[in-house]
Amino acid sequence: MSKAVFLDRDGVLNEMYFNKETNEFHPPFEAADVKLYDGVLESLKVLQKNDYLLFIVTNQPDHAKGKASLDDLMNVREEFQRIFNENNIRFSGQYYCFHHPEGIVPEFSGHCDCRKPGNYFVMEAIKDFDVDARSSWFIGDRDKDIICGTNSGLRTIRIRSNYYEYKNKTDADFVVKDLKEASEIILKNNL
Ligand SMILES: [Mg+2]
Ligand SMILES: [Zn+2]
Repeated sequence: MSKAVFLDRDGVLNEMYFNKETNEFHPPFEAADVKLYDGVLESLKVLQKNDYLLFIVTNQPDHAKGKASLDDLMNVREEFQRIFNENNIRFSGQYYCFHHPEGIVPEFSGHCDCRKPGNYFVMEAIKDFDVDARSSWFIGDRDKDIICGTNSGLRTIRIRSNYYEYKNKTDADFVVKDLKEASEIILKNNL
């Protein structure tokens, strides 16, 4: 069986974008706004080198909410892919949920099973890639991520959030400052 690390995207790999007009943080909507945190690429390489399959599991509801076009979100996704390719980082799967329960774009609105804390994508990956959940991890910065990981039988690490920390109530197995610390914990607790 394989071992895996499931990663939330925004706030874990990259900074959120601060929108001065709306005075709120949101994921990047343009390629130029994709800013990875320091040390992220190195940490992904270390995990990869230690035989962890890598997955991204991300909620991207801003098209459903009418705040971005689907093209914007796809361009940003491609920019991430470009950066990963350039650095020889290979994700076995990148799972994007574009839905939102209260969206205004009908096609993407209403209930879905793939939006975290739902674990549809994680369970699909566990099955498709023969992942041993016990030796695998979920890393995120919000309660939704930790609940998704726990409900999938994974160990969980929460990255302290620059944006949502005050909202987080769920206990993760570990709480750390960044992905580098998270990857160190994973290697130390290798099963
Ligand atoms: Mg996040
Ligand atoms: Zn969904």
